[in-house]
Amino acid sequence: MTVIGLDDTDSRDRGMCTTYVAHLIVERLREHDADAESSVGRPLLVRLNPAIKHKTRGNAALALHTTLDLDVALPIARDVVDRLAETEDPNTNPGVVAAPDPAEWNQLGAYDAVLAFSRAALRDRLTIADVERVLDVTGYRSESWGNGRGRIGALAAIGAWIGWNSKVDSVDEIFGDWTYECISYREPEQWGSRRTVDSDSIFRAATDGYPAVWDTVDRGEREAVCVPHTPCPILHGIRGDDPSECERIAKLIESEPVAAREIFVTNQGTDVHLRDGTIGSVADGRAYQVTGTITAPPETKRGGHVFLTIESENQGGDTTLQCAAFEPTKRFREHVRALRSGDRITACGEVSSGTLKLEKFAVRALTTTRRVTPTCPDCERRMKSAGRNQGYRCRDCGTSAEDKVDRPIERTLELGWYEVPPCARRHIAKPLIRGGFDAQTHPER
Ligand code: ATP
Repeated sequence: MTVIGLDDTDSRDRGMCTTYVAHLIVERLREHDADAESSVGRPLLVRLNPAIKHKTRGNAALALHTTLDLDVALPIARDVVDRLAETEDPNTNPGVVAAPDPAEWNQLGAYDAVLAFSRAALRDRLTIADVERVLDVTGYRSESWGNGRGRIGALAAIGAWIGWNSKVDSVDEIFGDWTYECISYREPEQWGSRRTVDSDSIFRAATDGYPAVWDTVDRGEREAVCVPHTPCPILHGIRGDDPSECERIAKLIESEPVAAREIFVTNQGTDVHLRDGTIGSVADGRAYQVTGTITAPPETKRGGHVFLTIESENQGGDTTLQCAAFEPTKRFREHVRALRSGDRITACGEVSSGTLKLEKFAVRALTTTRRVTPTCPDCERRMKSAGRNQGYRCRDCGTSAEDKVDRPIERTLELGWYEVPPCARRHIAKPLIRGGFDAQTHPER
């Protein structure tokens, strides 16, 4: 038994995709042991910390497992990566890590070290020295190209595989929730050309599969979000909670020929990047959920980006945090603009340059009144101040009032969770339709 992790084979400009490299390794492993196809299990696609700067797109890493020996499996993986990785791009630094039989892992003291490394890769920033330290402890073999940074993701993918496969604990914050993606690949001669996919069939299939299958399309933007726009080998990727539903929906889509399909188990759509935080203690390069009260009305700035500030209930230290809903989050900004001073929200997203980039928020309490100058009960005109601390009065009618009064305000927002639309969703962010939230939800589709 061998588990192989790999990462960093693709290039933003030149194409390729680590899921495709993984798929080809899986095919080669299956061919190698044609009589026992079950010797190669379902590959795993893990999304690591989305705040990592040198990622190509979605910070994906892959893990594969096979009953073949490490001495057979590793050269196959090395050969496929060597042939396919876009190493001409100086930002592509592939890494492959191979772990032996998990039965031996505890003896090696590897299990805990690798799980901990993987947890950190999901929420923090690691270095090449960090991965080399764990490789030394575990004795895992690795291969690298360029600076070998890909070994970080490769080892983290093995940790995720342990988390998934040993079913660590269904309530485990990081390894307790798994989803699936059925990826259909293009014929190699089509790579880089415009994709031929029938849009109507995508929308029909998306409706058919919903809600077990999600983020296939964005109805508001009329966009097929399952079809990438990059020069990579992927034709479309169907995500959901059930592998056979993902595959069934993928097969309903009418398109150019599909060269191959692979179903991955993933941590996409799970929110595992988010940690509980408090205003004043958040740090750049991490993602949080934090609760606070809005201090000033949301403001739309140049480019259509909407900003607001939340304040912590606990005084002392840095007690405010700016949150932003950027233009690409489209109609989500209407919900953000509908927030008012005094509303209490839980905001979720990555913090960058001190600003939390909103992925979703929950309205915990809504301001339903505002303090206004009273009106005269006789003439119904607004009263005037009667002087400092002397209340208000109507000079014409002689009526008076001691203080300002509460006037109800109409709110379009309701309590509960609001999210960015599918076209703006990060791979790792959890769509509300998946459920399990602590309040009512308002899912986008
Ligand atoms: P794609 O989504 O298109 O597959 P990508 O977004 O996964 O591409 P990569 O090309 O794999 O991007 O680059 C990410 C690089 O960052 C890899 O070298 C990986 O090892 C490294 N990396 C991943 N997570 C972390 C982390 N938490 N800390 C430091 N480096 C990381």
